[in-house]
Amino acid sequence: MKPAGAPPARGRPGPARIALFDIDGTLLLAGGAGRRALDRLFERRYGVVGAAAGIRPHGMTDPAILRQMLCGALGRSPAAGELEALALEYVELLGAEIADAPGFRLMPGLPDLLERLAAHANLHLGLATGNLARAAQLKLSRGGIDRYFAFGGFGSDAEDRSELTRIACARGRARARDGSAPAYVIGDTVHDVRAARAAGAECLAVLTTGASPEALRQEGARRVLEDLRDTAAVLDFLGVDGS
Ligand SMILES: [Mg+2]
Repeated sequence: MKPAGAPPARGRPGPARIALFDIDGTLLLAGGAGRRALDRLFERRYGVVGAAAGIRPHGMTDPAILRQMLCGALGRSPAAGELEALALEYVELLGAEIADAPGFRLMPGLPDLLERLAAHANLHLGLATGNLARAAQLKLSRGGIDRYFAFGGFGSDAEDRSELTRIACARGRARARDGSAPAYVIGDTVHDVRAARAAGAECLAVLTTGASPEALRQEGARRVLEDLRDTAAVLDFLGVDGS
């Protein structure tokens, strides 16, 4: 009998595992498209210019960003149905911004890593992202990597990141038909780490957007990498065979 946690034998699919990726700063940079769409949204809807200027969106969910912008720009909480209406208009504006965002790029190591991971039949690739589902699809499509992700937890599922990560874990386990499959989150902020831990998942954090490695570890990140070019380290973290 193999010791617990040992990698599966070469050539065998191994037990089911769930790998959940954050999007912004982890898989790609949208070149400021999100911020420009938010600014256009608030200018069009409320006549407020530069409403996104004071927002630090890293690790925040889209509904939380919209709520904070409303509070900052208009000094009030959203009315009933207002966040939902804003979200719909935001994704419409984001579509136009994403299409011609000159600074858009995949992060180092992508898409090679995804290609390697997709070869593992029992590794279920999903998303744990604060993006609304439609916004996530727009960003991944522009980067040509949407086909790697069959499910996820999104900002449109929950405003709270821990909750959307729990939802992503549950969806991954349903796809894997294994209610106890371990889940792993890959993200770039302490918010990703905190949400992963709250959802009972291990977290690998990357330093691509300037997070402090000490803070990430303190929050519970099991592994911290400069970026996702170190495919062997990611495979090792996920407990899958590197062959
Ligand atoms: Mg991120």
